[in-house]
Amino acid sequence: MLEPSCRAYAIIILTLSVLIGASALADSAEEPAAGASINGKPSMLVALTFDDGPSVYTDAILDILEENGVRATFCVLGRRVVMYPDKVRRAAAMGCEVIGHSWDHTMLVNLTNEEMTRQIMDTHRAIALATGVEPPMIYRAPGGTISPRLLALSGELGFTLLHWTVGSNDFALRDAKKIYKAVYYNTREGAIILCHDIYGETVKAMRKVIPRLIEQGYRFVTVTELMRAYGDELSPGTVYRGHKDW
Ligand SMILES: [Zn+2]
Repeated sequence: MLEPSCRAYAIIILTLSVLIGASALADSAEEPAAGASINGKPSMLVALTFDDGPSVYTDAILDILEENGVRATFCVLGRRVVMYPDKVRRAAAMGCEVIGHSWDHTMLVNLTNEEMTRQIMDTHRAIALATGVEPPMIYRAPGGTISPRLLALSGELGFTLLHWTVGSNDFALRDAKKIYKAVYYNTREGAIILCHDIYGETVKAMRKVIPRLIEQGYRFVTVTELMRAYGDELSPGTVYRGHKDW
């Protein structure tokens, strides 16, 4: 346990780093606009999401995002955030969004309200601590499994739930070419693409598919930027599945 004076000092340091982090992000973020022209072509906004990390593969994904000048949303496990705080901090510093995906990937629908709350809030706090930035009030339930009780509780806590429109199926395919095809041929304007930053084959697929989609006029933004650009601001206790309901 920290002495009370040390605890107060730690809170001041954390608050300062949140303020500094938030202003750095606000300065670097350009306002994305749906349909804005890129190289003479109208751009179509999409959001890449990476679940279940951070892991030993997260830096390779971040390198690819950086090389292509794009941002993504990372749906992280609290227990992995405390293992790899530097990777989460790097993602946030790059303008990526980091949101929760439960503490340990337990199916939230099987838990009591108290246990659900702990899974959601502990992860949210771990992200804030690692990144120095208060995460947006959005999270993705493990397996995308939602019940009316989980939805109601999330609403009470102030959270919107995140689903997806395009599944890369990387967890089942484990083959870079097949993951590439699943993403390339199914991506549409306004889509949220589900991937995982815990497989080497996903890294290989991203290296190819991100530049190819950019060539096609797609522009990668975070989930919050996607919502804002298309006017899809949602209230707590609802589920966001991308701009269009496919
Ligand atoms: Zn997951």
